[in-house]
Amino acid sequence: MADAKAYLERVLGTVKKRNPNEVEFHQAVTEVLESLIPAIERHPEFEEAGLLERIVEPERQIVFRIPWQDDKGRMHVNRGFRIQFNSALGPYKGGIRFHPSVYIGIIKFLGFEQIFKNSLTGLMMGGAKGGSDFDPKGKSDSEIMRFCQSFMTELYRYIGADLDVPAGDIGVGGREVGYMFGQWKKITGLFNGVLTGKGLDFGGSLARTEATGYGCVYFCQEMLKDRGTSFNGKTVVVSGSGNVAIYAHEKATQLGAKVVAMSDSNGYVYDKDGIKLATIKQLKEIERKRIKEYLKEHKTAQYQEGCFDIWNIKCDIALPCATQNELDGKSAQALIKNGCIAVAEGANMPSTPEAVELFIKNKVSFGPGKAANAGGVATSGLEMAQDSQRLMWSFEEVDKKLHNIMVNIFKSVKNAAEEYGTPGNFVNGANIAGFLKVARSMMAQGLV
Ligand code: NDP
Repeated sequence: MADAKAYLERVLGTVKKRNPNEVEFHQAVTEVLESLIPAIERHPEFEEAGLLERIVEPERQIVFRIPWQDDKGRMHVNRGFRIQFNSALGPYKGGIRFHPSVYIGIIKFLGFEQIFKNSLTGLMMGGAKGGSDFDPKGKSDSEIMRFCQSFMTELYRYIGADLDVPAGDIGVGGREVGYMFGQWKKITGLFNGVLTGKGLDFGGSLARTEATGYGCVYFCQEMLKDRGTSFNGKTVVVSGSGNVAIYAHEKATQLGAKVVAMSDSNGYVYDKDGIKLATIKQLKEIERKRIKEYLKEHKTAQYQEGCFDIWNIKCDIALPCATQNELDGKSAQALIKNGCIAVAEGANMPSTPEAVELFIKNKVSFGPGKAANAGGVATSGLEMAQDSQRLMWSFEEVDKKLHNIMVNIFKSVKNAAEEYGTPGNFVNGANIAGFLKVARSMMAQGLV
């Protein structure tokens, strides 16, 4: 109906005007709003209540200065962000990203996506995201620690176990979360679950490290089941070699697949016999080296500079697990031409809108990030539950819960896609299913 479309265009126009030059944020809002048309048509009360106008505006945007000193005593200043986007479903929840490309548009896109992702998990979590334009590459441990401490010295006043619970993301792993937690504890004198992704000795959850990658593969497994097949015997390409990529590789391999390529921001390695995960873990988790060093141990593997060509490698399943907009229309065409049947996004918005359209048009099973990578935040939710109880569950217990959550996410995404007239379109299904729960809660909570 023309009315729902006109409403969405009006809201999108305001977003663009009010947030100029924030292209990633525009892209994320456009993608979500476009797929909400059938839901808005069915619920005219949302327009009357100005619901979309409210949902695209963050509840709170915090921007702050982070001064820190390097090992030579030189002063540096970075910029920090925390976008507390929506608290309709629970305390704000979402990761922190340290990367030179970070600016407010990236954090808003991620925070906006996080609202619907967290909703899909079925747990009580609102949506938020944070970060800094700090580049952790090449920094010493002490520099990282001083930066994290300075970041938290400002952020601490805005977060809390029942208020806002940050976690890791690109450039923020267990080490950084540990330093931030230590500083938060020192300032506040409290010990509680204010951050997730903590070390196992002080309130972290087993299986949190593995959760996003494993969850992505569990989601993909459901998509494959839905088309009558499985991971067993399939060839897989995984982009990235960070936290998500490593554990996507691990679970896909456990399920009988062969991962033949992985990448970092410089290039990718191809190993026709299967990428040896132990080498990648050693290089990336311990030595923090470049992926091309893989060739030193595996002479028959090949290395190629640049990231996009990884999608030219023939595979049955593609798992983009690196960063936003890393898989464009050309890459999607190459994957389709080579017979790829499923793509599940471990990263946030790795596929461009053109790529997504091509996948859906060509009946490639496509799992959008907000559904396929929700396992990370879901397990963070499980970490919050354990911290509140002062208990620690076993790896198997957490993994089982994670698996159930991913199966349920797939079911609700698939059902919403069918119910709203676009069967098999999991982008629409994820957006609609995630949105409806938030929308109903906002309606019930009055003008919030
Ligand atoms: P990491 O920092 O651990 O790893 C990121 C990886 O991506 C690195 O290997 C990095 O290479 C690589 N990379 C960065 N830019 C590019 C590029 N342009 N092309 C190819 N590779 C690139 O981050 P995570 O694994 O935690 O996060 C990856 C993605 O998953 C992000 O989009 C994040 O938002 C999303 N995500 C993460 C969750 C989590 O629990 N960690 C939860 C949900 C989503 P290099 O080493 O060269 O920098």
